[in-house]
Amino acid sequence: MPKGAKAMEIRFLGVHNLESVNTKLTSILVDDILALDAGGLTSSLSFEEQARIRSILLTHGHYDHIRDVPAFALANSDRTIDILGTEATLEILSNRLLDGTIYPKFTEWPSPERPVLKLKKLEPYQARSIGDYSVLPVPVPHSGPTVGYQVSEASDSPAGGLFFTGDTGAGLSECWEYISPELMLVDITFSNEFSDAARERGHLCLSLFGK
Ligand SMILES: [Zn+2]
Repeated sequence: MPKGAKAMEIRFLGVHNLESVNTKLTSILVDDILALDAGGLTSSLSFEEQARIRSILLTHGHYDHIRDVPAFALANSDRTIDILGTEATLEILSNRLLDGTIYPKFTEWPSPERPVLKLKKLEPYQARSIGDYSVLPVPVPHSGPTVGYQVSEASDSPAGGLFFTGDTGAGLSECWEYISPELMLVDITFSNEFSDAARERGHLCLSLFGK
């Protein structure tokens, strides 16, 4: 942590891939203003809490990580929110959830001049300043194109802070050389008895993570 900086406040809004009244889909909130994935944003936050969020980072295009983007846009249509992800993720979002079929096309609504959502493309391994943070997308192994994010508090340096893997599988260690976080948040979907399923589906169990 940079000298003089205050510690990041992290809230786990959802850490599951199956939803119920007790289990929310994946969303993590940093300092109330930066969201990592959008599986459990609207179901976990009041309107007042939603109103503080400025940017949403998406790790990949699977439904349980992007599901709340349209509902969040509708509830916060009085302002513009940045949605950041790689090209592959933003394409899925644009072509499936934001194509104007099941909700307004929020990238052009309420008006093309002042849309509620702005999609911003991130390049793997290239740090980007987002407000007071530096964000570094690093590809991780999964069943579709996925990045983890190192989020640091110094907007000019991608070191320290946290690394959130998003969904990830065996081979995660290849990203070690690009990151140096103080805290790791890692997807462990399966228990060890289902290690074959974890391997097949691009997820981890504890024993695979250990390797
Ligand atoms: Zn996934």
